[in-house]
Amino acid sequence: MNNKNLFGLLEDKLTEHREALRELNSQYGARSADYKQGFEDALNLVNKLSTDLAREISVSAVYDHPPHPHPRSRTYRSEPAEWWIEDTNSDSLKSFIASRSNEIGTVNNGKSAVIVFDLDGTLFDVGHRTLGILKRWMSSPECSHFPKPLIKKIEGIGFNHIGYSLSHAFENAGLDMRNPDVMEVLVTVERFWRKKFFDGETLVEFDAVYTGASEFVWFCKKMGLKIVYLTGRSHKVMHAGTCRQLEKFGFPLEDAELILKLNTVTDDAVFKEEAFRAIAAKHNIVGNFENEYVNIRGMVQCEPRAVHVVVDSQHSGRPVAALPEKVYRIQSFA
Ligand SMILES: [Mg+2]
Repeated sequence: MNNKNLFGLLEDKLTEHREALRELNSQYGARSADYKQGFEDALNLVNKLSTDLAREISVSAVYDHPPHPHPRSRTYRSEPAEWWIEDTNSDSLKSFIASRSNEIGTVNNGKSAVIVFDLDGTLFDVGHRTLGILKRWMSSPECSHFPKPLIKKIEGIGFNHIGYSLSHAFENAGLDMRNPDVMEVLVTVERFWRKKFFDGETLVEFDAVYTGASEFVWFCKKMGLKIVYLTGRSHKVMHAGTCRQLEKFGFPLEDAELILKLNTVTDDAVFKEEAFRAIAAKHNIVGNFENEYVNIRGMVQCEPRAVHVVVDSQHSGRPVAALPEKVYRIQSFA
């Protein structure tokens, strides 16, 4: 029985008991005052439980539909205007990819068929990395220089508060960014975070893999597609860690290509588009997975016949121009 049915039954029972109590109160002398008080206390308790349950149902009901609980939380699903986005699921995508792959053939014009996957926010959930680094800062000597009540509040930051950036996590946890003390601690934590987040070690330590992501990549590999991992991570600092991470979560590595950014100053969208163009020159691109609208736009225009997919995890929200070509969007690989 689900919560809603249970709640309906409870409400019916409560109405019966309220009626019984009213009758009991009208029968003077029929029952002792203690008995009536006991009955009333019990009824009040059930009433309270019923209110709590109603609140719980109303909260979970929000999540029955695409949620917008906080404009900057990780579940925020803003999307660019004037884009042709078709929401779909993992199974349907597999058939679109299979069908596109059959159209092209595994080798065509001397070019092999490939599928491209971004890493952060597409295959890996980096929110755990941010939270892990924040917790590490909490146990650093630097932390002890800040007011205790403020640190107590920061201790309350949990996984569900983590958004696209550290400041989102602070805001989502209810820290007032107009407060200079809060800003001072944020700037300090951010400095620590920046050093760790891109160090090529914390990603192996903390990142989680999205459910079904590895199985999905394997499905593509077994279909005969060459796997290309294309990420804006720094080649110099993060290549070794990225290999270890892919291995850790069982992603296919044999015959796969891993492309990282050589010059980290290059804008992500520019880097991705250029890399994608280079891949398209050597291969037939069957599909492409990204979590950033601003990145995928140039890739779609480079090869509009590929199956382009936005993984709806979190994104920067950077402004992006209209896109008339269709992109798919999935909530999960599972
Ligand atoms: Mg990404």
